[in-house]
Amino acid sequence: MAGIKPATPASKPEEYKNVFVYLETRDDRLLRPALEMIGVGKKIAEKVNEKLYCILLGGNIRDQAKEAVSYGCDVVLGAESPALATYRTLPYSHIIADFVKEEKPNIFLIPATRNGRDLASRIAVRCEAGVTADCTEIDVEQDTRILLANRPTYGESMLAEILCKRHRPQMATARPGIFPVPEKVKSAKGEIRIREISPDKAILKKEILEYRKKNVVDLTAAKVVVSGGMGLGKPDGFKLIQELADELGGVVGASRPAVDMGWISRDHQVGQTGQTVRPRLYVAVGISGKIQHIMGMKNSETILSINTDPNAEIFKYSDYVIVDDLYKAVPALIQEVRKYKSEKQVAPTEPS
Ligand SMILES: Cc1cc2nc3c(=O)[nH]c(=O)nc-3n(C[C@H](O)[C@H](O)[C@H](O)COP(=O)(O)OP(=O)(O)OC[C@H]3O[C@@H](n4cnc5c(N)ncnc54)[C@H](O)[C@@H]3O)c2cc1C
Repeated sequence: MAGIKPATPASKPEEYKNVFVYLETRDDRLLRPALEMIGVGKKIAEKVNEKLYCILLGGNIRDQAKEAVSYGCDVVLGAESPALATYRTLPYSHIIADFVKEEKPNIFLIPATRNGRDLASRIAVRCEAGVTADCTEIDVEQDTRILLANRPTYGESMLAEILCKRHRPQMATARPGIFPVPEKVKSAKGEIRIREISPDKAILKKEILEYRKKNVVDLTAAKVVVSGGMGLGKPDGFKLIQELADELGGVVGASRPAVDMGWISRDHQVGQTGQTVRPRLYVAVGISGKIQHIMGMKNSETILSINTDPNAEIFKYSDYVIVDDLYKAVPALIQEVRKYKSEKQVAPTEPS
């Protein structure tokens, strides 16, 4: 058919070797999803007896490269330039695609963060590969080295396993917050290969005049998350949620309808289309427990839920439940936390 490019011939899988992971950074430090990628990548690389390559771009990446090695990375492939200090789609995708073409990895994993999603699709097009997006389970078949990329489908009711049989590299993005941060490796030895580059003007295209930092809530790094849902009944209910979160040294999360109602901004949303969290304590206030919310918080260490409905779905996932009106239960809980802290002389808690 006119205008449709015929499928490119399959790559030769035997020519592709090793596992690549992209390490996302901000303000010259590795983000948690980067460490999660090292954990998954290392497991897969060890299973097929290959090396783990970490891809790192930025303005000043020497310390992050050493940190990646301390978590078990075998080779850090880096590109350093002041022009790369802030994430930019075009130079990042061009440079990483060049790394892929040079090194020919069998597998390439990228965190499904906002930037990671943007990057993965661009790299895939440049390398004529496909991408399995937003995986929640990732493994590899030992003898064939085929990536087993699992991702939820049909509103999270099923898990689809996507196999890439023809083209290499096999690319996947991994949902942040799902995979654990690995332990540091004792006496880690890794090779660091950093190129200082001056990206071509043709791939920079745009000039950054000013970089303004937005105060975005990072729920994924929080030790305590207190989330409010439609049970709050009104936007002001989030003041009470904030008060409890402050007492516990936590941050505020929300269900999607509460966000859709405009009661709180989208960066607070927990769930399938929001952030995935795994804090030490998750408090669900006036949230029913629909699967799309559960997907984003079920890996929390301890879950406490407050709901008027004794049969609320969320209770099935909870360690502790309070069946009561939240406007009675939450103030009582705040009082108890304050009493405990003053009795034990606990120092005021910083947000986690
Ligand atoms: C493709 C898709 C993606 C989605 N992604 C997300 C997502 O990322 N995150 C997400 O959260 N949702 C998501 N949803 C929506 C999800 O299906 C649910 O609609 C949503 O999670 C329900 O929010 P809720 O629990 O706040 O509201 P409700 O389901 O309305 O529950 C409110 C709860 O509050 C309780 N309650 C009422 N009054 C009180 C009171 N005074 N005190 C105590 N309890 C009270 C009720 O008993 C009820 O259990 C998605 C849906 C789709 C289709």
